[in-house]
Amino acid sequence: MNARYGNSTRAVKAVDSEPIPGRPVADIPVPAAAFHLSADEGTEEHVYGRYSNPVWVRLEAALARLEEATTALSFGSGMAAVTAALRVLCRPGAVLMVPADGYYQARRYATESLAPLGVTVREVATDQLCDAAEQADVVLAETPANPGLDVVDLHRLAGICHRRGARLVVDNTTATPLGQQPLSLGADLVVASATKALAGHSDLIAGYVAGSQPELMAALERERLLAGPILGAFEAWLLLRSIGSFGLRFDRQCQNALALATALRGHPGVRSVRYPGLPGDPAHDIAVTQMRRFGGLLSIELGTADEVHALVWDSELLVAATSFGGLHTSVDRRARWGDAVPDGFARISAGIEDTDDLVADVLAALDRVGRRGL
Ligand code: PLP
Repeated sequence: MNARYGNSTRAVKAVDSEPIPGRPVADIPVPAAAFHLSADEGTEEHVYGRYSNPVWVRLEAALARLEEATTALSFGSGMAAVTAALRVLCRPGAVLMVPADGYYQARRYATESLAPLGVTVREVATDQLCDAAEQADVVLAETPANPGLDVVDLHRLAGICHRRGARLVVDNTTATPLGQQPLSLGADLVVASATKALAGHSDLIAGYVAGSQPELMAALERERLLAGPILGAFEAWLLLRSIGSFGLRFDRQCQNALALATALRGHPGVRSVRYPGLPGDPAHDIAVTQMRRFGGLLSIELGTADEVHALVWDSELLVAATSFGGLHTSVDRRARWGDAVPDGFARISAGIEDTDDLVADVLAALDRVGRRGL
């Protein structure tokens, strides 16, 4: 894809269809378990719905273009993608590093499912990963990490991993491929939840793995075929459809996240704000070197859990939800799920509302919370 293209052009071009006169411009879902077989065995493009689907082919081409990978493979969820990558790379005896401050279910999978198979699992904070990677065989990095939003220097981390023959897997869910492209910074694989900003409408669960090493991608395709964590035909179509408008949505989300972070930093009711795009944020200096956009996630710390609840209920625009990347600006109190964060810590996912409306609404809600003195 033309490197000069902006986000919306890249997203629209990613879902380009072949200009065949009389054929639909848009893709259509193909819900198929069985395909007609040929007497000339082995010449069929598709034979069975767990092996392949015509819409996967289109979707995976779009994902590969966005991630600048030669191959992308769709999965039934982000966790299906993360776990397939870890299963393929982690042999018994391997040392796996997972982010201590990243998505907690990935950490749980490593400790509850891989450790009993003989994998040594070490939990390391994202900003310490470069030092710790000297001891690893496989490193899972998440940058910015969810929910702490620390970042790691991917180019440096990839160099450390490769010098000792270790593999680097980067979870690109929070940044998205329009925010950063880990493969071009040296990662061996990208894994991601497409459930979030890529799908963007809070209505489907999906994931993908992207990479450019043929043997590794073939091993992952085999893993998907045998274990079967595939993406349903309708979800594949909906996701492909959503990618076309991803650039527009993502630009607005990034704009809203920066506006909220700027407005909330220094607010008397807010103890701290994190957003990698905010000058002065501990992650900012590294983020500017490797991210094109800083994403739609920010975090704030209020005094108590009740203040977080009151903020949502006193606002007209915020919704409470434990996901991110959707149309609505949503708030998730992460201590509820066991993340090692204070009770009043909230992850905010900026939606696509008009920026002025959103900032005014959140500031007014915070003022009401302050006046009631929770
Ligand atoms: N990776 C990250 C960073 C996530 O935040 C999530 C889910 O929140 C996942 C992976 C898992 O994605 P899914 O819920 O689509 O399985």
